[in-house]
Amino acid sequence: MISITSFLLWAEHVVFTLVILWAVQTAFLHGLGGLVGQLLRFLKLTVPGVDSLIKSTLQNEVQGFINQVKSDPSRTSGQTQAAAKRIVVIPRTGIPPAELLKEMNAMKEREVAVMEEGKIFAYVYTQENDKLEQVQLEAFNLYTEQPQLSTHHDKLVLEAHHAFLHENALSPMVFPSLRKFETEVISMSANMLHGDGHVVGSLTSGGTESILMAVKTYRDRARKLFPHIKVPNMVAPVTIHPAFVKAAHYFGLELVTVAVDQRSQRPDMAEYEQAITAQTIVLLASAPQYCHGVVDPIPEISEIAVRRGLPLHVDACVGGYMLPWVEKLGYQVPEFDFRLPGVTSMSADLHKYGYTFKVVFSNAGALR
Ligand SMILES: *Cc1c(COP(=O)(O)O)cnc(C)c1O
Repeated sequence: MISITSFLLWAEHVVFTLVILWAVQTAFLHGLGGLVGQLLRFLKLTVPGVDSLIKSTLQNEVQGFINQVKSDPSRTSGQTQAAAKRIVVIPRTGIPPAELLKEMNAMKEREVAVMEEGKIFAYVYTQENDKLEQVQLEAFNLYTEQPQLSTHHDKLVLEAHHAFLHENALSPMVFPSLRKFETEVISMSANMLHGDGHVVGSLTSGGTESILMAVKTYRDRARKLFPHIKVPNMVAPVTIHPAFVKAAHYFGLELVTVAVDQRSQRPDMAEYEQAITAQTIVLLASAPQYCHGVVDPIPEISEIAVRRGLPLHVDACVGGYMLPWVEKLGYQVPEFDFRLPGVTSMSADLHKYGYTFKVVFSNAGALR
């Protein structure tokens, strides 16, 4: 008995030492993020409970959604067949407006409270002074030329939104005001990004749609100019936004990603260029990329684009309405826009540092 116990202790000690050695080595080679990732993969593979724990967490989320769309039995007075199956149906008797608003506001309040903690990554861009970093505030004031008006700005945005709530941008002939707004916003944005008189663009529902439109445009261009390319591809640092993965999936392209250096989070230029093939139809870069806020080496990528005769899309969704103003404040900003001869299109989100709202007029995609 004694020998078995000491053997187990010894084995435990050996395993423990090996785990520590492995952890130190992984952290050294792949950084802390790499260690956490490896650890999760290791746990998933070796501890049977972990995989099912992740699965059941996901299942709980899905069940939550299902419960949300199931009808509230107290509301469906008439027992239709659909109500019996507990799916959402148009209720026989409507909910009184006051009650409806109360319920909606209660739901909203919970979400606003989370936003106001200022801890929502990438979803919400506030204009309230006390929530802004100093440089953000300075850039905002320069951008609006209305120092200390940021809370008024929010009200103004809301009023403008309400005033045009029912207009339909589908017809610029019926709603010429929308055409005027779009043309002016695109023109100002192109100018802000140092585009010349040939830069054109359009407003979309957000960064993702701007990216989709740019990729579709390059695919259609390639179909016309290079009909022999059957599966076109685009080359990007691995830190490119997932919207490009969606675009590749929707429009039948391949996304070729280039690894980034663990320290600088930028791709190696030789590797980037080596990834280009005869099927490459567009190069991609971000200013900055959304994962670490690092601006890709766009002057170098622009140089490759010019030399290889390829277009270059710069995803400035998060930086488009921020970097130009930060630069005006005197901070050093690497060139990322239409000043560079290789840059042929850009996406920039008005609903981020343009401080508008998402959906209607939220994005400017400019193409030269
Ligand atoms: C936000 C963002 C997008 C996507 O924009 P949405 O408006 O959320 O669709 C794309 N690229 C970058 C770099 C972004 O920050």
